[in-house]
Amino acid sequence: NEVKIARALLSVSDKTGLADLGRALARHGVELVSTGGTAKALREAGLAVRDVSDLTGFPEMMDGRVKTLHPKVHGGLLAVRDNEEHAAAMAEHEIGAIDLVVVNLYPFAETVARGAGRDEIIENIDIGGPSMVRSAAKNHAFVAIVTDPADYAKVTDAMDHNDGMTSLDLRKYLAAKAFSATAAYDSMISQWFGFADQAQMFPDTLPLVLQRGKDLRYGENPHQKAALYLPVGPHGRGIAQAEQVQGKELSYNNYNDADAALELVAEYRDSGPACVIVKHANPCGVATGNSLLQAYQDALACDSVSAFGGIIALNAPLTGEEAEAISSIFTEVVIAPDADAEARQVFARKKNLRLLLTGDLPDPGRPGLSLKSIAGGYLVQSRDNGRLDRHALKVVTQRAPTDQELEDCLFAWTVAKHVKSNAIVYAKGGATAGIGAGQMNRLESARIAAWKAKDAAGKAGWDQPRTIGSAVASDAFFPFADGLLAAVEAGATAVIQPGGSIRDEEVIAAADAAGLAMVFTGMRHFRH
Ligand code: 5GP
Repeated sequence: NEVKIARALLSVSDKTGLADLGRALARHGVELVSTGGTAKALREAGLAVRDVSDLTGFPEMMDGRVKTLHPKVHGGLLAVRDNEEHAAAMAEHEIGAIDLVVVNLYPFAETVARGAGRDEIIENIDIGGPSMVRSAAKNHAFVAIVTDPADYAKVTDAMDHNDGMTSLDLRKYLAAKAFSATAAYDSMISQWFGFADQAQMFPDTLPLVLQRGKDLRYGENPHQKAALYLPVGPHGRGIAQAEQVQGKELSYNNYNDADAALELVAEYRDSGPACVIVKHANPCGVATGNSLLQAYQDALACDSVSAFGGIIALNAPLTGEEAEAISSIFTEVVIAPDADAEARQVFARKKNLRLLLTGDLPDPGRPGLSLKSIAGGYLVQSRDNGRLDRHALKVVTQRAPTDQELEDCLFAWTVAKHVKSNAIVYAKGGATAGIGAGQMNRLESARIAAWKAKDAAGKAGWDQPRTIGSAVASDAFFPFADGLLAAVEAGATAVIQPGGSIRDEEVIAAADAAGLAMVFTGMRHFRH
């Protein structure tokens, strides 16, 4: 179970901690064997090193493509020490055992990230390194494989405490980590080739390599563990890449809600000032306006009760004016492309408030995958980047929407895409009037949205709710006329919905009877 380390092979691109490791190994009398650059670094640290070319009897060749790919290396790594045949082969071919391998791979991801050319990227596909890593990890019964400089101390501590030996437990841990490193490395390379993109198909294997980012205090609830995972290699930008300027650490729920807010406000990246307020991953107020401040105030007016402790996202750089207004009620997170010095100063007074800056907003039309876990597996789909072509809308009622109604319809539709189903959104004049989210039937969502709009009007001192003369969006078709009739009752005059129900005729007749204008999108935005 315990193996004394007599010979180590070191071959690392990232030379962090190498000299210290070399010295610790030398103290234990370990023979160091190394490839070109690594040997040089060790010698510069004053250590005696044997070149791998001396061990193999072959020079490193072909621009370093072939350095360690040799039976003297892989025999020394793979031999089962207590197998007579293996031992005989070692003796016959003068293969010496290697007990410790320290390898980290050519920096493929970094080379891609800094925009290197194709040839250079290909040259940074490490071949010999992963081969040694896999040989050593397979033979972890005898060989220790270290792929992460953060584990150097684990090995040297073990050696210090146990006469230069490593335990099987430690070698198993290192082997598991090693295989996960080579798996991630190869997935990254396949992702760079753009395999799924080229083939224009849904990926058979997920081209997603995730690396553990920071630990989160806990998950959705305090008894759940949680961490942020980030894609390795080329990837898009989103809430995970936002810069946190101030405030408490983001929680799991903060990330989830902030993601919903950023994805919705990104829909307005090419329009005038817009503001989104999110609670529990649902918008509770969305508005555009002549100024960012006005957009915020209109979004807030939609549901000022729910906005308490909410997440606010804006589509333009923040100034002190909006910061002051936002600071007047308790807010968990504020997200914006940027914030000026005055805004930062205002927020600095609110120690707990988290300020996230995103730079340019992400493109809502970008492709991507979305993942959801189910017990025993994962559901994977392309992200909902569907956007309406206003010219593809089909007017199905006798009356066509006025220009203003059409604008309100499109606004409500965009918001509905980001509301949990069943989603009903009333909008008027570039602001939401009432939002009904997450109900198990469409009628209730329509009623809740109308009821909330009435409540908001009372709170704001308006003489009537904003649903009067509004447009209403439904994320999926009305299966019956009742949901639509609830919208009529709330004062809506225009409707936007996908259409496609077997009762469409009944729903259209009800709309005509009430004098509504209704358009069909032919596109659905379920969000469960
Ligand atoms: P060095 O800086 O020591 O010259 O090179 C270290 C790097 O070479 C490590 O990242 C290691 O994974 C890689 N490496 C070791 N042996 C081989 C080989 O035979 N072929 C290739 N392509 N890379 C190797």
